[in-house]
Amino acid sequence: MIKVAVAGPRGKMGREAVKMIHEADTLELVAVVDSKHDGMLVRQLDGLPPSDAPVYNELERCLTSQTIDVLVDLTTPAHGKRHMEIALDHGVRPVVGTTGFTDEDITNLRKKAEEKGIGAIIAPNFAIGAILMMKFAQTAAKYLPDVEIIEMHHDRKLDAPSGTALKTAQLISEVREAKQQGHPDETEELKGARGADFEGMSIHSVRLPGLVAHQEVLFGGVGQTLKIRHDSMNRESFMPGVKLSIETVMGIDTLVYGLENIIE
Ligand code: NAP
Repeated sequence: MIKVAVAGPRGKMGREAVKMIHEADTLELVAVVDSKHDGMLVRQLDGLPPSDAPVYNELERCLTSQTIDVLVDLTTPAHGKRHMEIALDHGVRPVVGTTGFTDEDITNLRKKAEEKGIGAIIAPNFAIGAILMMKFAQTAAKYLPDVEIIEMHHDRKLDAPSGTALKTAQLISEVREAKQQGHPDETEELKGARGADFEGMSIHSVRLPGLVAHQEVLFGGVGQTLKIRHDSMNRESFMPGVKLSIETVMGIDTLVYGLENIIE
């Protein structure tokens, strides 16, 4: 059994992760980190499963009090980064789902993981279908280099475009010559009508209540179009990716950024 702690257990993602870990045969929920309910048990928190795992309000104390293999962090970008450093310092493998890591952060954290000889995973998107969408889009762009990306999210999302849309554009740009799409003389009658520009590809961001996380990658060729679409219907969709990350992080000794690097 892999012994797992979760930071952020009352959040929308954290709740699903606690439930998944509690129900998984190969995982054991040993503790959670929640700034508001120190000293309670998971079963006493509203809507969480009947687990006797203790609640700590401070990660450091949680990691010194319990034997933990993996810390799953689903808090906020600022706390995710800090928690990752603390976990590595304690020899605990972090699986972090928050965004906001700079290239420099990743280099420093990778060095720390390698010095400790343990694995670490940062996954900006745990949805396995979304990772496949990015990979398929990269393959398609070799043959159909005219591409537009439309990402659609709930209206509480603060950043645009989404990290997944940017990552998709980056993966496509690895196989596609930079190319200005559309008519060379086109003008925008309304600012932003053609979306954000990434090496000549347009990225459009839609924000509406009712949506969760969706993306379409549209390709146009001579007399044909191709659409690759992924939809996350709810936060449960991210849990197979969280489970895969927990299992994978036990067998690696460096930091992996992005599930696309662990899915063949
Ligand atoms: P959320 O509902 O706002 O949950 C965040 C939770 O973190 C809250 O319950 C908050 O508790 C808790 N928290 C904040 N600081 C903490 C700390 N120092 N210690 C312990 N808990 C702390 O957000 P969400 O939708 O679940 O998303 C959580 C994170 O995952 C975000 O960073 C989001 O961008 C990311 N996310 C990742 C993926 C992916 O696939 N990788 C998918 C969706 C979301 P309080 O109520 O006490 O503040």
